[in-house]
Amino acid sequence: MANDDQFKKVISHAKEYGYVFQSSEIYDGLSAVYDYAQNGAELKKNIRDYWWKAMVQMHDNIVGIDASIFMHPTTWKASGHVDAFNDPLIDNKDSKKRYRADVLVEDYCAKIEAKIDKEVAKAEKRFGDAFNKEEFVSTNPRVLRYTEDIETTLKRLGKSLSNEDLTDVKALIEELEIADPMTGSRNWTDVKQFNLMFGTKLGASAEHAMDLYLRPETAQGIFVNFSNVQKSGRMKIPFGIAQTGKAFRNEIVARQFIFRMREFEQMEMQFFIKPGTQMEWFEYWKEHRMKWHLSLGLGKENYRFHAHEKLAHYADAATDIEFKFPFGFKELEGIHSRTDFDLKQHEKHSGKKLQYFDHEENASYTPYVLETSIGLDRMFLAIFSNALEDETLEDGSTRTVLKLPAVLAPVKAAILPLVKKDGLPEIAKQIFEDLKWDFNVDYDEKDAVGRRYRRQDANGTPFCITVDHDTLEDNTVTIRHRDSMEQQRVKIEDLTGIIKKEVDVKHWLKKMA
Ligand code: ATP
Repeated sequence: MANDDQFKKVISHAKEYGYVFQSSEIYDGLSAVYDYAQNGAELKKNIRDYWWKAMVQMHDNIVGIDASIFMHPTTWKASGHVDAFNDPLIDNKDSKKRYRADVLVEDYCAKIEAKIDKEVAKAEKRFGDAFNKEEFVSTNPRVLRYTEDIETTLKRLGKSLSNEDLTDVKALIEELEIADPMTGSRNWTDVKQFNLMFGTKLGASAEHAMDLYLRPETAQGIFVNFSNVQKSGRMKIPFGIAQTGKAFRNEIVARQFIFRMREFEQMEMQFFIKPGTQMEWFEYWKEHRMKWHLSLGLGKENYRFHAHEKLAHYADAATDIEFKFPFGFKELEGIHSRTDFDLKQHEKHSGKKLQYFDHEENASYTPYVLETSIGLDRMFLAIFSNALEDETLEDGSTRTVLKLPAVLAPVKAAILPLVKKDGLPEIAKQIFEDLKWDFNVDYDEKDAVGRRYRRQDANGTPFCITVDHDTLEDNTVTIRHRDSMEQQRVKIEDLTGIIKKEVDVKHWLKKMA
């Protein structure tokens, strides 16, 4: 399936099966704002819990907090967001469409990368088993030219953005002959900076209202609470503070479904360390976070690291974990070495000491910070798009199946009486009553059982449990596995154990070891 078609299918499947709806759809929707529906809310919660378990509860030196969305406005002056949380925007004079200048250049590079992939696929076909991909990409002249082209382009973009040289960003767009993707026009305005924070007001009367921002990241709620948590939790360095929550950004272009939203959720952890140890911890968290991703089994080939060319004003090292979305490799998570920038800035603006007394060193210092920051909605999209498959079965028929990792699936099992009579619904309902203590389960008696299986496959439910006439005799049921479609006859009393084995967080997170 072409990638565009696959992405369209992901969006329509998400709607049809109650995962994600456009916000305020009856009023024609609100651009780049989405609602999670009955299944989506469960999946999202399960992803959040999987992250929280791995990051907070499995680390005895990491604690979790839940800070407010509203923060004192000086927070954003101190963090640099008021002055520097900008994206470079460019307008096309003919189409009147607005773009992010850096994204136009990155998309240009992604197109060259697609050419490299094509060359690789062609060579793989030609050489068969003898094909050595690494050797090919490091020696083939055409691929080398493409790679160099990408590297020089991204380096120049990084440099001009770091130097705030927006004239050069425009020059680059013109030199590369980048056209408006919608219309093909190359009639561009100059590049301008655009601040992404949403402003609002606190207070009842207009004269006394205080200007506030909706937080554009959750991290600052952690920094301003550093001393409170450190003292009340008697935390010793190295230690981390984690939180999940909503963030808001007035994104210039937000057209990729839940990949880039104006209201989204982050899962962030700030790890406070001794100055000078940041590179060690940077490597540690890179590896640890990648292991977390791989534990979900979405395929190693779908992830890669991408080191930043342009470092943010606060960072001395940064990398992204990129995932292969239906529209190509894009950032899913950021890992940033933030130095002591944030704590020092808050110290300066608040006048309060934000230091740590190290008993071993017998000295106070401002800790350095290593951050891991992942978008919950992007993780949702990564999992959901990777799971959706159209399968052709041995008998030639097809099925749509959502192969969600069982630990994250919204509904773990559906209980289906084969027919709506002979006492089978009563037994099925009793099984439902028993299982609901441990799992989110579904009872479904409508339509032929084959259609019910297909519906549950498309919904991502890992198990179907069918009650039939034999159940009346021997208290056994059929349990069907979503991915293999294998069916087993098991005792009703063994159901909890069988399901637990596959959906238990422990079973999945142990893969990180
Ligand atoms: P991008 O370059 O894609 O705009 P970013 O580098 O600005 O992302 P960070 O500020 O590092 O992103 O935020 C951390 C994480 O939050 C990102 O890796 C991403 O998963 C998520 N995120 C950021 N912006 C959005 C958004 N508008 N919608 C959904 N998720 C987002």
